[in-house]
Amino acid sequence: IAKRLEKFKTTIFTQMSNLAIKHGAINLGQGFPNFDGPEFVKEAAIQAIKDGKNQYARGYGVADLNNAIAERFKKDSGLLVDPEKEVTVTSGCTEAIAATMLGLINPGDEVILFAPFYDSYEATLSMVGANIKCITLRPPDFAVPIDELRSTVSRNTRAILINTPHNPTGKMFTKEELNVIASLCIENDVLVFTDEVYDKLAFEMDHICMASLPGMYERTVSMNSLGKTFSLTGWKIGWAIAPPHLTWGVRQAHAFLTFATSTPMQWATSVALRAPDSYYVELKRDYMAKKAILVEGLKAVGFKVFPSSGTYFVVVDHTPFGLENDVAFCEYLIKEIGVVAIPTSVFYLNPEDGKNLVRFTFCKDEETLKSAVERMKARL
Ligand code: GLN
Repeated sequence: IAKRLEKFKTTIFTQMSNLAIKHGAINLGQGFPNFDGPEFVKEAAIQAIKDGKNQYARGYGVADLNNAIAERFKKDSGLLVDPEKEVTVTSGCTEAIAATMLGLINPGDEVILFAPFYDSYEATLSMVGANIKCITLRPPDFAVPIDELRSTVSRNTRAILINTPHNPTGKMFTKEELNVIASLCIENDVLVFTDEVYDKLAFEMDHICMASLPGMYERTVSMNSLGKTFSLTGWKIGWAIAPPHLTWGVRQAHAFLTFATSTPMQWATSVALRAPDSYYVELKRDYMAKKAILVEGLKAVGFKVFPSSGTYFVVVDHTPFGLENDVAFCEYLIKEIGVVAIPTSVFYLNPEDGKNLVRFTFCKDEETLKSAVERMKARL
């Protein structure tokens, strides 16, 4: 294996899902719903296949989908973007992130991440050969340490990656935090890459698009996807929105990574994105009910539960149960209790920072969530 990937193991999500199957454990680890996406979107995919929309798509996206993405972005951020010059369709947000890094970052460039961070960011930056600087968000509220941020951002910084709502903590970046980051980026001529795949799962406050803050659109790549919002994580349709001078880099990388994305699924995604607002209202209502079951259950079991404002994740402190670290706790939880969670140490440059924390997901049907809670109550 190439040196740049040597330190990365099988992703923690794959490891944990395999263990769930092996031990017959209830999987509250990997973030994929155990219920299906909406009929009207599945029907649209079937129709597109039957209609012969099966050859290569245009590299940067099926025109109808580029339009639908621009329409939705206008609703969400208030920004009017050109679907032909500023929207690129990718194979999931993970590819959008890779294309953005590969297309806009040079080896040796400094990029700032907030830890804990989704595992693909570090691996992708490692493939680019970037110089990673990390700022740690700490419990209980995972607030941005403003002074540390100020002393880290400089003229040498090329980009900052922001994930809000945030996986794994459920933190949402506040308006004040985004404003400070924005002014530092403008002052030091820094780009911002945003991963906003959980934007429709914002429960406690409104989601804010970094690109919509004054002076930020021209330096921001805003990324999102279909999977979480429509419970279709296996479709792998994502996108990047950026001004033409940044889109150029993203598209060049995308052209040689995957060339184009699945044609019929793009047609179906354009139908999904034109869903009435009531779809999103229901989605949020359903997820709030699931979240209440899991959060109340975890508290009753005896965990210290940190507040989660968005995403379908919640992070807890496992130390009341006396295991030595997050990995040991998760192993015990799978083998002895029959429930899977994700150890968070893999989301940090320094694994020690995550040793007390584990992540549970509530993107499962209510019966599954209740059974997991019952198992933990009875056995932990
Ligand atoms: N994004 C999902 C999670 O955080 C799954 C990611 C994956 O399996 N690569 O659980």
